Amino acid sequence: MAKKQFKTESKKLLDMMVNSIYTHKEIFLRELISNASDAIDKLYFRSLTDDSVGLKHSDFEIRLAVDKENRILTVTDNGIGMTKDELENNLGTIAKSGSLDFKSDEENKNDKIDIIGQFGVGFYSAFMVADNIKVESRAYGSDEAFVWESSGADGYTVKPCDKDTVGTVITLHIKEDTEEEKYGEFLETYRIRELIKKYSDYIRYPIKMLTSHRQLKEGTENEYEDVYEDETLNSMTPIWKKPQSKVKDEEYAEYYKAKFADYEAPLKVIRQSTEGNATYTALLFIPAHAPYDYYSRDYEKGLQLYSSSVMIMEKCKDLLPDHFSFVKGLVDSADLSLNISREMLQHDRQLKIIAKALEKKIASELGKMLKSDREKYEQFFKEFGAQLKWGIYSTFGANREELQDLLLFKTSADAKPGEVKFTTLKEYVDRARENQDKIYYAVGETAEKIAMLPQVESVLSKGYEVLYLTEDIDEFCVQILRDYDKKAFLNVCTDNLDLGDEEEKAQLKEANDNSEELFKFMKESIGDKVAKVRYTNTLKNHAVCLSSEGNVSVGMEQILNKMPGTEGQNIKAETVLEINMDHPIKDKLLFLFGNDKEKLADYSKILYAQARLINGLNLENPAEISDLVCDLMV
Ligand code: ADP
Repeated sequence: MAKKQFKTESKKLLDMMVNSIYTHKEIFLRELISNASDAIDKLYFRSLTDDSVGLKHSDFEIRLAVDKENRILTVTDNGIGMTKDELENNLGTIAKSGSLDFKSDEENKNDKIDIIGQFGVGFYSAFMVADNIKVESRAYGSDEAFVWESSGADGYTVKPCDKDTVGTVITLHIKEDTEEEKYGEFLETYRIRELIKKYSDYIRYPIKMLTSHRQLKEGTENEYEDVYEDETLNSMTPIWKKPQSKVKDEEYAEYYKAKFADYEAPLKVIRQSTEGNATYTALLFIPAHAPYDYYSRDYEKGLQLYSSSVMIMEKCKDLLPDHFSFVKGLVDSADLSLNISREMLQHDRQLKIIAKALEKKIASELGKMLKSDREKYEQFFKEFGAQLKWGIYSTFGANREELQDLLLFKTSADAKPGEVKFTTLKEYVDRARENQDKIYYAVGETAEKIAMLPQVESVLSKGYEVLYLTEDIDEFCVQILRDYDKKAFLNVCTDNLDLGDEEEKAQLKEANDNSEELFKFMKESIGDKVAKVRYTNTLKNHAVCLSSEGNVSVGMEQILNKMPGTEGQNIKAETVLEINMDHPIKDKLLFLFGNDKEKLADYSKILYAQARLINGLNLENPAEISDLVCDLMV
């Protein structure tokens, strides 16, 4: 029978498994047992509404068996099983292959561990320890059984086989031992017992194995015999049902890694048990890093939902608000009916109460972390902070009370050269100068670039603190917030910046009024790239800078135009070219206006180009500008 080929990505992954240098090969057992447990969950869940399943909760089990001589380890379950098509589809491709973007082999070398962890490669991990794998399965409701078999990357076969009962038997032929690797350990009872305790103790179905021990033969004084008995290797208590004081941090971490396919321990574990309005236990995790697809459309938020320890939903999205979509974990409540349908669940009052309580709890735990462990909080914020800001923006500030004090922004305060500091809004306001009624900010790619903007330099030199908004979402977020503690947010690169005294303001106004004709001419020379030209008195040294009027700043213009769905709309900031009123260029411009309009047109274009460069923007017409500058030089 001709072998079928694995899909390309699966094949690469398999190759990696077969030749794996991954040190934690032992996790393969956890993966197989977790699949078996899921399969049993599915059938058990069905048995609740379908009498023909004919099994009680206590009938379900996962069974391990070893045959040392032939180096065989089997994992058997009486779960839902797989049809022929399911064997092909589930085991012929990795589940998430669609979103797997494999790097080149060269890059992969150092990344193996991450890939194994990140994608939770499940079943395939068995190829780290086995050189041949057989999966015999009979699906619930089918009277045929099939066997899938493979020795690795060169393909697999699927054939009919005999199997009397519903469920799956996975037979691993364990690799021969080598100098470096003693694969034989996976055939030893003590080692298997250890692995189950470590990774699969909480599995709610018994994991059984026939084990033997030597004991004194009855009626004799010194004769021993091997006694075989069925041993249940796991305690079956879900980790969230154990008294909190009895569970070590590492146990939570192992549980999290196994259940939520992460290679890194969570940053924070949150456990909550309540009685009263809603009775439930929640075990929540804040990951240490964003999953690879977190900021993509593919990411689905949600918590696992259990009713009295029976899983009723894998991802209940109604339990988490969008701004906390990074939280993983589960909720177990006795108040929820087991047979509740997904549609009904959406309207369930109980569920809404739980969701509200969880949201409050998560917010308060984050608040605590911010106060007690700043370093950890900053690590959290680098991964997920954008989501909190997005949460404020996308609800038009409806949840500002909950979120605004959890936000961090980069800031000019206390930063040493080359260092980026973060501040909360409260800290900014606490440091604000007397009578300061604004929160100043500026937008740019990096804190370093923002610090060099002429307007920023000038605000800093007057002793004010400036927030450096470097994330795409930042400015949208502060625009929705509008103010914090009665201080309005103000972009220092807009025309509203107003730091001078009355006398200076009057001078500026007069100068602007007197030069209206000049500015009109300059604007026409530059074209519709600028809405206006005018003097400013906020620049320290530079001759020119760009600012904007209205709601769309120069920074937002760029972000908005690269967002999907805005093609062709060409959203424009009302860009203003500002000229330093105390710079000698002012007199030169006035002179040219009276004597050499042609040259003034060239000057205008060059000044606009300079302002773009100073603001960290590219030139739209570098060749033209370069020619103009050369003309001036010769
Ligand atoms: P994952 O478990 O992350 O989906 P796996 O590669 O471990 O990925 O398994 C792929 C799929 O194969 C599972 O989602 C499940 O549908 C099916 N499967 C694996 N093992 C079993 C089993 N013992 N019984 C029934 N189905 C199984």
